Amino acid sequence: MVYEVNDLKILQKGFNYSQDGPGNRLVYHLQGCNFRCRWCSNADAIPLENLAARDVSIDEIYDEIMRSRMMFFDGGGVTFTGGECTLQSGELLPLLKKLKGSGISTCIETNGSLPSLREMAEYIDYPIIDLKHPDDEIHKKWTGHSNAQTLENIEFFLNSGKQVHIRIPLINGVNICPEKFAKYFSQFDTSNAVFEFLPYHEFGKDKWQGRYEMENAFVSAETVDEFTRIFNSRGLKTVKT
Ligand code: SF4
Repeated sequence: MVYEVNDLKILQKGFNYSQDGPGNRLVYHLQGCNFRCRWCSNADAIPLENLAARDVSIDEIYDEIMRSRMMFFDGGGVTFTGGECTLQSGELLPLLKKLKGSGISTCIETNGSLPSLREMAEYIDYPIIDLKHPDDEIHKKWTGHSNAQTLENIEFFLNSGKQVHIRIPLINGVNICPEKFAKYFSQFDTSNAVFEFLPYHEFGKDKWQGRYEMENAFVSAETVDEFTRIFNSRGLKTVKT
């Protein structure tokens, strides 16, 4: 699959406040993901091809973002998410460079699985990286993909001193192991990091068109509290958005 040069394949876009990075942000959902998380709430964004997605030139996107500047209040800006936005890094990187050069706050939400994330790091003001599980075998079982590059990229950001926001989806039967997560992160200097827990939901279930496999995956408020308590006890800062 080769995308048109200078085009990003976009499934949808819209404004969102604080949940996709700081402040009010114009959020672009890019088509295509290399993971197959069984709980994915954006299953329509997983295939590389989707008739509902549109090829848009990076010049057109840049102009649209610049026209939207007045809306970027409370420290807002632009966010690229997915799917997995770094699959389109060939086009995303020059766009991020141009946006940074114009003083626009840039954020990406990523599963962290591609080496190209590091090349983009300099041009991302606010990286949000998901970690589904610190154990590779379990990660592969539930996402269809190794976590090795994700861990490398997380370590890169933690060691770089750049701020990083790490998100952990909490899925009953998959990753309710707060000590394992906390032990993994405690190896590093996390003074530049915040951690957020996203409890399982089923808002995107219909997008699977009957192929949804998750059962009994909801987590209790006590489970979220337990993650928070264990992370905080190890000096890992937690946030809610
Ligand atoms: S990484 Fe995100 S977009 Fe990709 S399958 Fe998993 S939850 Fe869905």
